[in-house]
Amino acid sequence: MRKIAASDIIEKVADMCIKANRDLPADVLAKFRKCQAEETGPAAKEIFRQLLENAELAAETGLPLCQDCGLAVFFVELGEQVRVEGLGLRQAINEGMVKGYKDGYLRKSSCDPFSRKNTGDNSPAIIHFDIVPGDKLKITMMAKGGGSENMSRATMLTPAQGWKGIKEFVITRVAEAGPNPCPPVIVGVGIGGNFELAAVNSKRVLMRELDDLHPDPAIAKLEDELLAAINKLGVGPMGLGGKTTCLAVKILVAPCHLASLPLAVNIQCHSARHKEVVL
Ligand code: SF4
Repeated sequence: MRKIAASDIIEKVADMCIKANRDLPADVLAKFRKCQAEETGPAAKEIFRQLLENAELAAETGLPLCQDCGLAVFFVELGEQVRVEGLGLRQAINEGMVKGYKDGYLRKSSCDPFSRKNTGDNSPAIIHFDIVPGDKLKITMMAKGGGSENMSRATMLTPAQGWKGIKEFVITRVAEAGPNPCPPVIVGVGIGGNFELAAVNSKRVLMRELDDLHPDPAIAKLEDELLAAINKLGVGPMGLGGKTTCLAVKILVAPCHLASLPLAVNIQCHSARHKEVVL
């Protein structure tokens, strides 16, 4: 059994929360530059210039990329041979998140759904656990803003609706979202599983690199098809029109009940803030 001290987890998670909110991943920045060069309209080009400048300023000054520092969402892969000592794993991750949001002066956005009273420390962290073989602990953190999360949807299609129904739902969702999720967006699509698994998968899949190719060529083709169709909408960067409404579409498929076709669309704004650590 490998032992990992909860205190180490707290420190690593706090650091991840601060860095995720300050440094955009390299693949996102590279995609901004590529899309800026491809845009022809002055407004779209200018938005990309501002997004790049914003990212540079955040990295230089340590200020957050966006005023909405998001709810802190974690995907955790806990090796079967790992034992966390000192605190429970959930508590350690939550304490690390609270410390990171406090030390990094990050906005605390978590509140009671009825009274709207802020919990004060961004807790509770939203944590999805998986138990995996091995002696490692992998923690991925994403800072998920409210604007893009509000535009996300889940539905239960009938099996007969198939790919045509999936495509229509995803494109309509992005079109209706318009400028609200701060485009250019990244679209995560969970297909199959059941109601809750499709939703979790639609968010989990947003952790993939923007330019990676789905290992199944048939799914890779569907991702390309959706991306091209969404970019024809012309919503453009920040909704001001242009070629780039969407930076990438990522699909995660799971087996489902023979009577169902679960589908979820998670929309990620351009501020695609996530970090990963392996202990
Ligand atoms: S949608 Fe994203 S970029 Fe827009 S305000 Fe929310 S977190 Fe910030």
